[in-house]
Amino acid sequence: MGLGEDHEGAGYLPFEFLGDFLTLISSEGKVFQGLHYGDLNWCGNYSLDEMYALEWQAWLGNGRKTLGDKVGTLLQFDIDSEPERGMEVVRLLEKSGIRASVMVFNNRINRRELRESGKVHFTDYDLDFGLLNSLATKGHISVGYHTNAMEQALWNPEASLEIFQKDVEELRAKFGSIEIFSPHGGIAGPSKTNNHDIPMTSHLQEEMKIRWVHNRRAPRFNSAFSDGGFSNPNRPEARLDFVKFASALLPRQRARVLIHPQYFTFPHGDVNIEKVPIHVLRESWYQEILGFYRPDQLRWAKLNRLETSSVGGQFASSPWLGFPRNRNALASVVAPLGARIVKWISRAATRW
Ligand SMILES: [Zn+2]
Repeated sequence: MGLGEDHEGAGYLPFEFLGDFLTLISSEGKVFQGLHYGDLNWCGNYSLDEMYALEWQAWLGNGRKTLGDKVGTLLQFDIDSEPERGMEVVRLLEKSGIRASVMVFNNRINRRELRESGKVHFTDYDLDFGLLNSLATKGHISVGYHTNAMEQALWNPEASLEIFQKDVEELRAKFGSIEIFSPHGGIAGPSKTNNHDIPMTSHLQEEMKIRWVHNRRAPRFNSAFSDGGFSNPNRPEARLDFVKFASALLPRQRARVLIHPQYFTFPHGDVNIEKVPIHVLRESWYQEILGFYRPDQLRWAKLNRLETSSVGGQFASSPWLGFPRNRNALASVVAPLGARIVKWISRAATRW
């Protein structure tokens, strides 16, 4: 994500909103198929110029067949800050048995300190290695390196590659296998370079047996959602409407969903309602979520932050009720025209 403070905020959404989504994925086994990056077939290729196209061809050829009529949902969790919240999410993954990729730092940089003093200091970053390891060993999750090597190297490209290699080695000592990486949206250097400007080469990827999977370089998806930049006022708030995105997913397609656990509360914890950006607070999709999971907080926000006189706003039903909505709506519209048209639409949709 961008250069702002969008990784600093915490607790904008109720934890149970995410929990209910994951439960839905696992209980709706006929609708969704959870995926992680370890499920992709790269055809043994590590070339930055070739591997993404080869993987996509392999997916269209054979990989997609494993979905049947389901929606392929690749979940990626970036553990940027607030690792305890990230571990709560990993515990949810364990409970629901859902496949996902989890991106972790080797060392976490104090963002403010780097921005203000230009110095790299590491912060606490407590991960539950036992839990991550046991899920990774079972193949439920794949753990990746969330690289901040350019920041660590104070944006010196050559030095960043050395740090990259050291970090991966240390992470492998902790996790066994690290086969993927994604650059963190960190503080940009004087010449505006950031972690995604690391001068990675195909040769080094092959030598290290690691692949770049997100942020600047990534495999292809039919659609993608990211909650990154939650508090960034330049980001259209409607794009954060996760329910709408999830409702529009189509069978036999592959979607990537990127979630930052720091944006969620602890289980049953209060939303950080005073810090939720006002443009998000005004959105009906946001109020629907808050009104169901934290009705008192929605009432408070309406009175005190939106300054409305109406204090209504309790939502009796889950935002996930009737999910996936749009697909149902589509079916009800086209059903009278016959199954042939439904078939044609879904076939055409997979090409879009
Ligand atoms: Zn990040």
